Amino acid sequence: MKPLKIVVQDNKLQIRWDDQSISIIPLDYLRGKCPCADCGAEREKHSSSYFPIFTSEQISIEKISMVGHYAITIKWKDGHSTGVYEYNYLVNISKTKEAL
Ligand SMILES: [Zn+2]
Repeated sequence: MKPLKIVVQDNKLQIRWDDQSISIIPLDYLRGKCPCADCGAEREKHSSSYFPIFTSEQISIEKISMVGHYAITIKWKDGHSTGVYEYNYLVNISKTKEAL
């Protein structure tokens, strides 16, 4: 799948895919699932139920960039930008969120 349109609205990332499905992911959840090595290591230190408290800078998006044809990177307002969110990963975490 590829994104046709990505918008940030009401503190949520909304992605319309080329099969017309839509993924909606709250930004705090998205930041909590940052796939970069640093954030992964941070999560390892805590239990799976750990949910970090973020500042508003950390859950505000400054810029979204495409990476090749498979992923996006998000630059957060606190300057963190090393996470590469693959499309499959975004679909997976949005489904996880719906199931909660
Ligand atoms: Zn990260």
